[in-house]
Parts: sequence; C-alpha cells; structure tokens
Amino acid sequence: MKPKLVKTLAGKVVIKYRCFKCGDKLVSPLDDAGLKDTCPNCNTNFVVPDRVCRQLLSQWTKRYSSGLSNAVHGLIKLLQLI
Ligand SMILES: [Zn+2]
Repeated sequence: MKPKLVKTLAGKVVIKYRCFKCGDKLVSPLDDAGLKDTCPNCNTNFVVPDRVCRQLLSQWTKRYSSGLSNAVHGLIKLLQLI
C-alpha cells in the first residue's frame, strides 16, 4: 500500500502507511514526515515517508489551491525546505 495523506475530522493531516516489514497499519502526523519512528508491532526502525508526502501535497496544492488552509500552506513550505 502506498502512503496516503488523510485529513482527519479535526482538520489535521496525517500519513497512513504500512510497516514495510510486518505490514502493520501505521499513522503519523504530517509533522513527522522524514523523521525516524519505530513500528509498535515489530519494533523495526524506519523513516516516516516524506518524499511521497511532498508529491501528494503538491497534487493537493494544485487541486485545492483556493481552499487550502494556512496551516497546510505552512506545512508545504516546511516540507519544501527538507
Ligand atoms: Zn512492523
């Protein structure tokens, strides 16, 4: 499964993806993209996918350019700096 960006009911954007080793479903806040994390199921260390998130965000920007909140704009700027 490819990582997906999902907007929660609270308006936060999270990354949904699977552990590459055990396939467990994982969710991380977008803020954690590119950071190291550990799978709670198999204790594998991995990096929260960020490249794909940047691609998805740029798609979002094109699609929702008028409706994006300032918070998401801020995150896009942040991710472009990585
Ligand atoms: Zn795992």
